[in-house]
Amino acid sequence: SKKWKVNHTTIDLGGGVKIEEGGFQIMAGPCSIEGEDQIRKTIAHLKENGISIMRGGVYKPRSSPYSFRGMGIDGLKLWYELAKEAGIKIVTEVMQVSQIEEMDPYVDIYQVGARNTQNFNLLDELGKNTDKPVMIKRGISGTIDELLYSAEYVFSAGNERLLLCERGIRTYEKATRNTMDLNAIAVLKEKTHLPVIADPSHGIGIRDFVEPIALASIMAGADGVIYETHEKPEEAYSDGQQTLNFPESAKLIDRMKKTFALR
Ligand code: PEP
Ligand code: MN
Repeated sequence: SKKWKVNHTTIDLGGGVKIEEGGFQIMAGPCSIEGEDQIRKTIAHLKENGISIMRGGVYKPRSSPYSFRGMGIDGLKLWYELAKEAGIKIVTEVMQVSQIEEMDPYVDIYQVGARNTQNFNLLDELGKNTDKPVMIKRGISGTIDELLYSAEYVFSAGNERLLLCERGIRTYEKATRNTMDLNAIAVLKEKTHLPVIADPSHGIGIRDFVEPIALASIMAGADGVIYETHEKPEEAYSDGQQTLNFPESAKLIDRMKKTFALR
């Protein structure tokens, strides 16, 4: 809480890539890492547009056990080699305690997914057993205070390199996948010293609405935006319906930069 920690937390990933108060970082990439060709194309797209952090899951939490559940550690190693060569940082989801040790050399930011926000053992271990930054997503039906307590688990266990992510919550509204809570961005910015990241892809869940929600998140105070992009969203292994193709992604990046300049 800002009550006792006055200075804002800066997440320094090295190589001049920082997430910090007063700045703005974009993280983009596919929902799932699918293979070498896809990784290379995504990296090329990010580099063309000046983006330094790539998202992607190799361990995927899926509602159905029959859906694609990710390439696992081999996918992460492959991705790491290509990303390192290109100077691109990696943000990816860790789903269980036993994955931390094997993933640690290849990760720049761990993502704790919405379904694991209250996996307290996982949070404890991310506090104790790594010094890599951890981005905690808001629980699917989680309150703002519950998100802050989740961060407190990691923080109190010894890792203070934390980011918070608003990714929409489940409400009675059926017109969209989730309800992006822009209120939470403003409230978190007021309450905490941690960087606040907006995820408009999961926040609304519909490709055509990702841009307005991303731009609104910036005006609400977000320190960064994470979103899904893929060369061919209609062929993506997961979350294609909310994924931007590369021209749409390039347009969003341009508009986000212009919006941030207005803040
Ligand atoms: C994701 O980032 O692809 C993801 C599964 O996110 P969430 O945990 O917010 O659903
Ligand atoms: Mn996704």
